[in-house]
Parts: sequence; C-alpha cells; structure tokens
Amino acid sequence: MASYDDNNIFAKILRGDIPCHKCDEDDFTLSFHDIAPQAPVHVLVIPKGRYVDYTDFASNASAAEIAGFAKAIQRVAEKTGISETGYRIISNIGVNGHQEVPHLHMHVIGGAPTGPMLSKQG
Ligand code: 5GP
Repeated sequence: MASYDDNNIFAKILRGDIPCHKCDEDDFTLSFHDIAPQAPVHVLVIPKGRYVDYTDFASNASAAEIAGFAKAIQRVAEKTGISETGYRIISNIGVNGHQEVPHLHMHVIGGAPTGPMLSKQG
C-alpha cells in the first residue's frame, strides 16, 4: 500500500484549503456531497485521520474511529432522507477497486434505484 499523501484532494478539504458542500461532521468524520454525483444523493464520508483506504483504516484506526465512521454513514443516510427507501455504500480500494482519491472514503448513494451492483463492462 502507498503511504499517505498529504496533498490528496480530501486532505485539502479536511484542512479547509478547498471548499466542500458539507453534509455532516463530528470528531471522527467529515461528510460532503460528491462533486460529480452519480445519483440524486451521493455523499462521501471520510475519516479525519490519515488513512489511505479501508485496509489501512481497518488495520490501524482505533475502535472509536471505526465506530465513528460506521455511525457517520448511517447519520448521512438519515439526514439525506434515503434511509427508508434504501441506498448503497461503496468504498473503492486500490487499482482493481478503481480508487481515485487516496484517502479512505465511503460513497453513500441513493434517492433512486441504484441498478445492478457491478458494471457488466468491467
Ligand atoms: P473514488 O474513485 O476514489 O472512489 O472516488 C473519488 C470521488 O471523489 C469521485 O466520485 C469524485 O467525483 C469525487 N471528488 C473528486 N474530487 C472532488 C472534490 O474536489 N470535491 C468533491 N466534493 N468530490 C470530489
């Protein structure tokens, strides 16, 4: 796994160097609307800690950080009104996961049917 890059775009958002449309925040997480939404609701939930991806997070984060991240996802679903109708959470990891930004993030996607789980085109 690559080491954490403090110049990745989400690190800049966390520092306030570039703006975001915030959805939720607590001690452990920041959640904001994706700049290129792929559904009526598309929010990114990120930990405030320096974690490259889910593997890094699950290996190195504290129990409090992990619990905080899990709770933030559920809170975002409630706040955006997709909790009742259903939604999808996705975290892309590494090359085969097509991860673009090397700071752990969970996509919270809903507001309309999300379609089949994976593209058939590969
Ligand atoms: P990944 O492919 O790494 O799982 O997803 C990265 C996501 O970050 C993409 O959905 C992309 O639209 C989003 N994104 C990239 N740059 C920015 C930005 O500057 N602001 C916001 N809000 N989202 C971004």
